[in-house]
Amino acid sequence: MSKRDYYEILGVSRNATADEIKKAYRKVAMQYHPDRNPGDKNAEEKFKEAAEAYEVLSDSEKRAQYDRYGHAGVSGNGRGAYSGHMNMEDIFANFGDIFNDDFFGSFFGGSTRRGGGRGFRGVRGSNLRIKLKLNFEEIAKGVTKNIKVKKYVVCQSCGGNGAKDRNSFQACATCNGTGQIRKVQNTFLGQMQTVTTCPACGGEGTQITSRCPVCKGEGRLYAEETVSIEIPAGVQEGMQLNISGKGNAGERGGPPGDLIVLIEEEPHKDLHREGLNVAYDLYLSFPDAVFGTQVEVPTIDGRAKIKIPPGTQSGKIFRLKGKGFPAVNSYQRGDQLIYVNVWTPQQLTPEEKAMLEKLSKSPNFKPQPDKTGKSFFDRIKEMFS
Ligand SMILES: [Zn+2]
Ligand SMILES: [Zn+2]
Repeated sequence: MSKRDYYEILGVSRNATADEIKKAYRKVAMQYHPDRNPGDKNAEEKFKEAAEAYEVLSDSEKRAQYDRYGHAGVSGNGRGAYSGHMNMEDIFANFGDIFNDDFFGSFFGGSTRRGGGRGFRGVRGSNLRIKLKLNFEEIAKGVTKNIKVKKYVVCQSCGGNGAKDRNSFQACATCNGTGQIRKVQNTFLGQMQTVTTCPACGGEGTQITSRCPVCKGEGRLYAEETVSIEIPAGVQEGMQLNISGKGNAGERGGPPGDLIVLIEEEPHKDLHREGLNVAYDLYLSFPDAVFGTQVEVPTIDGRAKIKIPPGTQSGKIFRLKGKGFPAVNSYQRGDQLIYVNVWTPQQLTPEEKAMLEKLSKSPNFKPQPDKTGKSFFDRIKEMFS
């Protein structure tokens, strides 16, 4: 396979400045970085190709030779020759110099710093989802629920490490217990030490010689656990609460997953939710609507007395301020709305019928909506404006 032009690989012109070359290399290296393209051989080749191009073009002497003689100028036996194919560790060893700023760090996090020897800590547990039914009072006030959850829990016998006992460990033979593999190599930039995480122990530095008999080395068991869940006031049907670290325990001491709680509202027998408001349908007899009365209505927390003034029309809405639901993430709070329905009798005795027929001739029984009074629809509009 013939070699591609180094300038072409980095996508720069032949008279690019050192800074332009550096910037171009960063861009290409990020694109084909193995951390972003796991298992992609083509990306790895492109990544190596870019590193080689940069290695030559970033060195003024090598660049001059390449400009004059092409690939032959830098890969032959001559002075300043580039003598071999770079391996991945060489490339990573150079990264410290080239990407030594926040720009790179924020892109790849810790994963690129292969020399860090970050310890391997098992496998993270998966998230767990549960549904939780709450009544109106619990939603309005917030509640702490203790719930039995079936999930993976840390094995108490081994504490999660998966070993039979404290003597069941030995230092990793591959890395002699350091968790890291150090290599000193002679490269074109001089002697260089590279550090990688030990593949045999994953950086732990130890190996287990005999497994915990209780969990068979997994470090966790399937069991039932009571989880205490604090529900803030004002949650709603369909909301999800993410409770960090309360999901399944990880394998061999890995961090636990999260517990995801899906909120369900238990319907109330008398009340229903209208956004943050609570609605109640009040039925009044015709005489009560005419004479006025005092009634007790259910609210989220207990009962409340309200006065019905004489001459109350059907469709009137009474408001109990602040008796609705709180909002989960603000100080807003809804009201309780009481909708008045005047009950129309559906069955009458002949005697009642005669009385009503007599009354219906009276002018007071003729509907006369007040000119200044608001219609039912006006009031509804007002409620929600
Ligand atoms: Zn165990
Ligand atoms: Zn090791």
